[in-house]
Amino acid sequence: MARYTGPSCKLCRREGRKLFLKGERCLSEKCALSRRATVPGQHGAGRKAVKEYGLQLREKQTARRYYGVQEKQFKKYYVAADKKEGIAGENLLSLLERRFDNAVYRMGMASSRKEARQLVRHAHFLLNGKKADIPSIILKVGDVITLKEKSRSSEKLKGLIENIADTNAPKWLDVDAEAVSAKVIAIPDREDVDFEFNEQLIIELYSK
Ligand code: SF4
Repeated sequence: MARYTGPSCKLCRREGRKLFLKGERCLSEKCALSRRATVPGQHGAGRKAVKEYGLQLREKQTARRYYGVQEKQFKKYYVAADKKEGIAGENLLSLLERRFDNAVYRMGMASSRKEARQLVRHAHFLLNGKKADIPSIILKVGDVITLKEKSRSSEKLKGLIENIADTNAPKWLDVDAEAVSAKVIAIPDREDVDFEFNEQLIIELYSK
């Protein structure tokens, strides 16, 4: 399935929740969901309450859209999470948190996950000192993300670099604002996910 390229705000309206896909705008009065919270489409305002399957599907779509992951890859994360020891739902969120693009966002180098994905794709970062431009890489403890020396002089990135010092990075990332780098120092746990997911619904959906 091709990557969704339509309006980001439409996805939030579809899920009825802020997915924070547009950086600063999401926190402002301009947020489309604050202005109009109905589901997109002609009959959006009149839709009925969703049943169990619908709830499970919506929760999965919310997580997929929140992290910007395509369906096929999301299913792979579920399979990997289910095989691991521990609670499958928490394993799933931990994997999503450890995506390369998410870590770049969480270290404060991008205003949204979408922007972080673009920065990674454009190879602005090194992973453990080597070129890495695949947003879906799952980081492990000890991995170090560093902004490329050449990218530091980029006008676009200068503003983002300044944001790093003010960012509340999660405890699993040790951010060095001076060096514009971040080291993974732990596996993220449930508390590190800054969104209200009901991950059990996602597991139930895939377990059928
Ligand atoms: Fe979602 Fe952000 Fe658009 Fe608001 S502004 S609807 S949070 S993408």
